[in-house]
Amino acid sequence: MLLIFLLFVSQMVQQPLIRFHENPVVAHRGAWKKNNLPENSIASLREAIRLRCTGSEFDIRMTNDEVLIVNHDPEFHGMPIEKTNYSQLAAIRLSNGETLPTLENYLLEGMKENPGTRLVLEIKPSPAGVEKGRKIAKRVVEMIQNLHAEPWVTYISFDLEILRAVLALDPQAATQYLNGERSPGELKQDGISGLDYHFSVFNKNPGWVVEAKKSQLALNVWTVNSAEDLERFVSQSFDFITTNEPELLFDILKAKP
Ligand code: MG
Repeated sequence: MLLIFLLFVSQMVQQPLIRFHENPVVAHRGAWKKNNLPENSIASLREAIRLRCTGSEFDIRMTNDEVLIVNHDPEFHGMPIEKTNYSQLAAIRLSNGETLPTLENYLLEGMKENPGTRLVLEIKPSPAGVEKGRKIAKRVVEMIQNLHAEPWVTYISFDLEILRAVLALDPQAATQYLNGERSPGELKQDGISGLDYHFSVFNKNPGWVVEAKKSQLALNVWTVNSAEDLERFVSQSFDFITTNEPELLFDILKAKP
């Protein structure tokens, strides 16, 4: 009996259940715009957590010396990230004085004093091709596991092979596909747990909203910024709406009857 209890407790310690905020607001590259913060900075992540967004999105790439970093573009101040060592990249500060964040620092910040904002982690396809993308995915999952960050993370990618590599290492991982050409039924068969498509895809395939809900796939949309578009996706009860305007989306949700 004692043994069962101890096993139960150790399970709880390993996998703390997190109650994510009950709203659909995902801050795209963190909440940066209103306060003029750099995108993908730790400051923008902290602001998304402060706003109580249900998610804060960020982009991952790997440097030449295999440091995982948070940056959208394949270059940083003209330097190709995959061909440059981290120390060279980190010599140039972000506009708010922050050092270019490593994934490790980002995750540690994201798990600190965070009452319910999930970490929406985009693994960028590698300019070097699919095989390198898989390698990066493996490194990312290893880091998540080492830091016990699994319960916080939703993985997103434009590359299905990257999501497959994530699932091979962590079959329980929450995954959402970004590229927009696969139907909810196809994604379900792929073992992907959600779709996160550009809003134009849902305009063209309105039936996919219903199909995704029926298939119990998480429904996410990017990047929705105008009040009119935000209202439309709120009215369709999307699980997640990824936006550069989290404050505006909260205002719209508050005004809802
Ligand atoms: Mg992204």
